[in-house]
Amino acid sequence: MSVFYFVKNNYDKFPAWMLKSASSIYYMFPTYIRYGKDFNMTLKLLKQTEYLPKEKIDEIVNERFQFMVHYTVKHVPYYRKKYAEYGVNIKAIQNVSDITKLPTIDKEEVRANISEMISDEYKPSDLMYITTSGSTGNPVGFYQKQSILMTEWAYVMHIWSRIGCKPDSSRLILRGKKLHPNKLNPHLFYDSLRRELSCDIFNMTEENLEDYCIAIEKYKPEFIHGYMSAIVVLAKYISFRNGGLRHQFKGILAISENVLQEQKDFVEKIFGVRVFSFYGHSERLVIAGECEKSTMYHVEPLYGYCELLDRNGEQRTKGEITGTGFLNEAMPLIRYRTGDMSAWEENMLCSCGRPHLCLDGVSGRWHQDMLINNEGAYVSLTALNIHSAEFDHIVRYKLIQEQVGVVMMLVVPNKDYSDADAKSIIKLFEEKVAGKIRFDIQVVNDLPVGTNGKYRIIEQRLPISLS
Ligand SMILES: [Zn+2]
Repeated sequence: MSVFYFVKNNYDKFPAWMLKSASSIYYMFPTYIRYGKDFNMTLKLLKQTEYLPKEKIDEIVNERFQFMVHYTVKHVPYYRKKYAEYGVNIKAIQNVSDITKLPTIDKEEVRANISEMISDEYKPSDLMYITTSGSTGNPVGFYQKQSILMTEWAYVMHIWSRIGCKPDSSRLILRGKKLHPNKLNPHLFYDSLRRELSCDIFNMTEENLEDYCIAIEKYKPEFIHGYMSAIVVLAKYISFRNGGLRHQFKGILAISENVLQEQKDFVEKIFGVRVFSFYGHSERLVIAGECEKSTMYHVEPLYGYCELLDRNGEQRTKGEITGTGFLNEAMPLIRYRTGDMSAWEENMLCSCGRPHLCLDGVSGRWHQDMLINNEGAYVSLTALNIHSAEFDHIVRYKLIQEQVGVVMMLVVPNKDYSDADAKSIIKLFEEKVAGKIRFDIQVVNDLPVGTNGKYRIIEQRLPISLS
């Protein structure tokens, strides 16, 4: 186990003073010990292969694809059955161009067949169970290998290294995770072990934002790392703050939300540095990071294979991101429709020289949905981070707000749903927002999609004045 894992698993148990004194020892370990084998080997491979000619990269992609498909047929009952039904000749699947001979799968299919989708070489109890709310609000669960966390972290660091961010770079954290419990100020915490200044994004009141600015001047984090909706709120505050902000960041690392152009322009103007984002998802099949030389998103070829499909499953230049992951044979997802939409760049030749496929951004997810708490502060939907097992018994839900600090949650239950689920969901939400929003639950039979086919999780009936 890497030192990183140990710290991660025991983080909340360390008092603040101990984190501080541990940091001087921690940084004496080489990165190999700190981040472990999976991280270091992945990062090394990515550096070695990044600028290889396309044919060389395609060879590795074909190997990974072929391994995954053949492994899946051998070890995963669901695919064996499904491919037999579709009459797939598995011997004819030689390289990634044969992928169109395989049927696609979607979230509903995973939800209905999850127990048959796990490899016979793995026990569910040895795997991580994660759920995602997806773009339609339907929660769905997956099993993944533990090692995938550090492997993925290597991909993220590899992408961020394009603007000079290193594993040990200090960061201002503006995301929906719980702050360390041993904190002097309940809304911010500086962790010298991780070199992270974490600020509460559930309560971005003016008073708190001023505290954040003072802490930024004190700790001087190199990068901002967080949700764009929260970064915009901070930038707005700084734009009218007396004297602005003296500290100069090196870059802004936007995660988990679609970045709107107007947000990007505004934030770059206020902080005077580039906003840099990447596309990823909980299923961990496709990851694509922005380029330092352009605004294209380079799809990382060794992480998973990306296709854009239309409604009929045909490959198109614009369509639904459909992924075949190369990292998780414990529960393989082959031609999995993510529900996210994107388009290929018309001219994929980027001046950086990487021969990867390039997406031109992602649309159709991550609406800048906001709730308003009883102090008038905004809470973004992404910040609620509703990736939890409590939602397994819910088919779909909607959050309706007509009154400051009060939200009505409409749920379409499945057959396993009970009052206990309602209680634990309310508890989970209210904990996340520190009790500053009251959630009421109402069970309904149906929650239809909008006329454009899209589903809005939040129906905000109060005015929202964010750009
Ligand atoms: Zn590039």
